[in-house]
Amino acid sequence: MTKKALITGIRGQDGAYLAKHLLEKGYHVIGCDRRRVDLNNWRLEHLGIENEVEYVYMDLLDEGSIHRTIQRNQPDELYNLAAQSFVGISFDQPLLTTQVDAIGVLRILESLRIQKPDCRFYQASTSEMFGEVLETPQSETTRLNPRSPYGVAKVYGHFITKNYRESFDMYACSGILFNHESPLRGIEFVTKKITNTVAKIKHGLADNLTLGNIDAKRDWGYAHDYTYGMYLMLQQEKADDYVLATGNTHSVREFVENAFQYINEEIVWEGSGIEEKGISKSSGKTLVDISEKFYRPAEVELLLGDASKAAQNLGWKAETNLEQLTKIMMDYDLSLIEKSLQ
Ligand code: NDP
Ligand code: GDP
Repeated sequence: MTKKALITGIRGQDGAYLAKHLLEKGYHVIGCDRRRVDLNNWRLEHLGIENEVEYVYMDLLDEGSIHRTIQRNQPDELYNLAAQSFVGISFDQPLLTTQVDAIGVLRILESLRIQKPDCRFYQASTSEMFGEVLETPQSETTRLNPRSPYGVAKVYGHFITKNYRESFDMYACSGILFNHESPLRGIEFVTKKITNTVAKIKHGLADNLTLGNIDAKRDWGYAHDYTYGMYLMLQQEKADDYVLATGNTHSVREFVENAFQYINEEIVWEGSGIEEKGISKSSGKTLVDISEKFYRPAEVELLLGDASKAAQNLGWKAETNLEQLTKIMMDYDLSLIEKSLQ
């Protein structure tokens, strides 16, 4: 029988890639939309699957909509990817972030417990829960120490998922995913902001790139690989939590250098702190500057994941390194701009 998967956050980066994987496996995919005036369809269109998904209205803030959606659709698997997912905004909208990213998870779990307790559940946990890290690399057993309202809300979502697994014998897993990027990444995230702006600079559509803390380090992987790991987590004999990561960490500064190198610009750094500038070695022009505006009230300085449990139990590993990821993202952003200029 065809399996039914419900995906919240279907129009986000991960929702689109996961839907594609599940459609390829023969699933009937139901995507949960919240009501929006401007339909955000570009990611599903990019993957050519916008007409293969069935859409239903469900908002994580609206318990009734969750209840009705689960009751009507009786899913075999539910992937909870919906979230206010941007750390920076969580400092400005902490209550909304908590309502969606923490209580929203509980609303879904409660509804599943009552109406479809045998539905397999995936919770999108995050390396941001490690925050100011207490050990390196970080694994499933590393103590959590979040540094933002987003991280704190996700810790709640993480533990309530574990609690429902242990209390009600539900198949409920958390994937602790380290940062994963792609051409479909939201523009507010640093990698996409960099590749998009560097592509504009190349074509004379922007003068420079303004960033915050460029010494923060992240373990960046490719969303296509990571969303396949989500699927694997729900196919095991026993539910469990897994870290997905590449096992390599790089600074924002290195990501900037690589992106500029892709358009044959070598960056030379001058100054320090918010006075620091990235100068083009060939033309002497300032291509990167720093603004306090993009600093956070509390920063996560270093993330580096240990995904050996996923390798051993799921047979999963990150297939794409940072150089390949930068190429994928730069090629996409350059081609979009080239098309728009034709
Ligand atoms: P995106 O921000 O791209 O997508 C999030 C989705 O959630 C959007 O489609 C958005 O809808 C939807 N959403 C927001 N609020 C609500 C709500 N109240 N009700 C229903 N839907 C809502 O995130 P990603 O795809 O990058 O990430 C997927 C999940 O994984 C998120 O939970 C994120 O926190 C988590 N995560 C992501 C990581 C990453 O590096 N990408 C790392 C670790 C965890 P709309 O389209 O209407 O705005
Ligand atoms: P996060 O790890 O989920 O917060 O992902 P982001 O891509 O938003 O940020 C990654 C890191 O880049 C964080 O340490 C940010 O402080 C840092 N950073 C530096 N400049 C910027 C910027 O202009 N925008 C964003 N989003 N992050 C920046």
